[in-house]
Amino acid sequence: MAGGRSCQNRHVTDHDLISLAHGPEIVAIPGPSVMPQRVLAAMQRPMPDIYAGELTERIDEIFDALPEIAGTTSRAFVPIGNGHAGWEMALMNTLSRGDRVLVADCGRFAAIWGEMATFNGLRVDLLTAPVGHAVDPAMIEEHLRADAGHEIKAVLTVHVDTASSVRNDIPAIRAAIDAAGHPAMLFVDCIASMGCERFCMDDWGVDVTIAASQKGMMTPPGLAIVWAGPRALDAHRHADLRTRYWDWTYRTEDGPYYLRFCGTPPVSHLFGLCEALRMIAEEGLASRWARHARLAGGVRAAVDAWSTADGIGFVAVDPSQRSDSVTAVTTGSIDAIELSRRCRERFGVTLGVGIGDFAERSFRIGHMGHVNAPMVLGVLGTVETALAEMGAPIERSGVAAAAAALATV
Ligand SMILES: *Cc1c(COP(=O)(O)O)cnc(C)c1O
Repeated sequence: MAGGRSCQNRHVTDHDLISLAHGPEIVAIPGPSVMPQRVLAAMQRPMPDIYAGELTERIDEIFDALPEIAGTTSRAFVPIGNGHAGWEMALMNTLSRGDRVLVADCGRFAAIWGEMATFNGLRVDLLTAPVGHAVDPAMIEEHLRADAGHEIKAVLTVHVDTASSVRNDIPAIRAAIDAAGHPAMLFVDCIASMGCERFCMDDWGVDVTIAASQKGMMTPPGLAIVWAGPRALDAHRHADLRTRYWDWTYRTEDGPYYLRFCGTPPVSHLFGLCEALRMIAEEGLASRWARHARLAGGVRAAVDAWSTADGIGFVAVDPSQRSDSVTAVTTGSIDAIELSRRCRERFGVTLGVGIGDFAERSFRIGHMGHVNAPMVLGVLGTVETALAEMGAPIERSGVAAAAAALATV
């Protein structure tokens, strides 16, 4: 900036250098998601007594609220850890060394869970859906029919795969297991979708459900949530993979609060989770699902409008399988890395990087948890601006399409 002390002479002439990113940073990655101020504020407090008083009341409140979130009457366990901790807790509590499990993957995450199962001494059969598609229940049925000796103890899959943004039809998978006349349990990773998309653990016949704090549950990373149904608790009694830290029996519900966490409770996170659960209750679960569906509809309308033969498109091929929590977008001939860089550096929006099959040729938009229309429209408008700067081949305005989709007329 030339011009000495006179403001008259201060000008930026190179428009490429003007950053439009100053102001609140928008992080639109699919987890950790945007945390409500209420949750962050609830966590910001001195340490209380951990044996009695306010903390123990909040712990009771949390354990009372969690079953409804997953659509179950079964209790939840809340280990300190991330989603991977939830995966491990589910496996170690229910299975024995050498047991077979069937992993049904439609992106990336079930497969990684399967790698964990192999590492921990289980035998894994892996079914992989074609790229961009949900798991085909008929393939599960066929695979289980071939297991006449019922060696397979559990089917492991995800509700929503965050890499592909494909949602599986969990009731259809349960029906396929039943149609095969097979006694396998069904374990479902709902880390991306819990609190955002309809999930009915009991009605859908799910035996173990897994979530984590940092996505739709609106609480910073650090807690997993594992709901265990009656069949899983029964299997637990004979499981030999059990280890002391994860053990469900040891984390008894009516014993000391200290033991529920196998040690000192994660105090700040519990205050945060309690506040998030209150917010979920205030909004109402069905209203939350409807909000996510509506906002996701806006995102999908934009991606549809941008779509061209060699440009923007959906990773999730079938519209009925597209998640309401996250949208993975392919970019064809458009440089996805450059697009994301521009969004972040020039405009202050961080998009999720592509992972899995389209790693370098895609990006992801998280729309889970504490999101509303201006956040979604802001992100879409930013992507559209960056696409325009890059001279990307788009023919219609995604923002206009999203606005039309979100408008109630
Ligand atoms: C985020 C995510 C995970 C991994 O969770 P971490 O907390 O990173 O361990 C697993 N599965 C799904 C579906 C996810 O979205």
